[in-house]
Amino acid sequence: MTLFEKIIAREIPADIVYEDDQALVFKDIAPQAPTHLLVIPKKPIPRVGEAGAEDQALLGHLLLVAGKVAEDLGIRSTDKGFRLVINHGANGGEAVPHLHIHLLAGRKLEWPPG
Ligand code: AMP
Repeated sequence: MTLFEKIIAREIPADIVYEDDQALVFKDIAPQAPTHLLVIPKKPIPRVGEAGAEDQALLGHLLLVAGKVAEDLGIRSTDKGFRLVINHGANGGEAVPHLHIHLLAGRKLEWPPG
């Protein structure tokens, strides 16, 4: 069981800000911006490149959840804004093998990322 599956199962505590039947959103334990959330599927897909055609609706749902949470936090307006990041594998910076979308906001983010 991955760390994030344990958070879904409430075996490990997390600061959960949104939940539905397919997705969970919680605060990153080591925030890289004033707002740093992780949007994850409850289905244990290891990483985005391993999602299958059967996951198409779920992947879309995760993006819609990110947008909804951004709206709830008051950061969806384009004068504020946010960034979504998915890390895949070693060069991508992936540390936890359970698909997650980072939602970063609250400061001006650099481009390109380091
Ligand atoms: P990644 O490097 O894309 O795999 O991102 C994994 C993220 O999970 C990192 O930003 C970590 O800070 C975060 N993280 C690790 N353990 C926890 C935890 N127990 N609760 C919340 N976030 C965590």
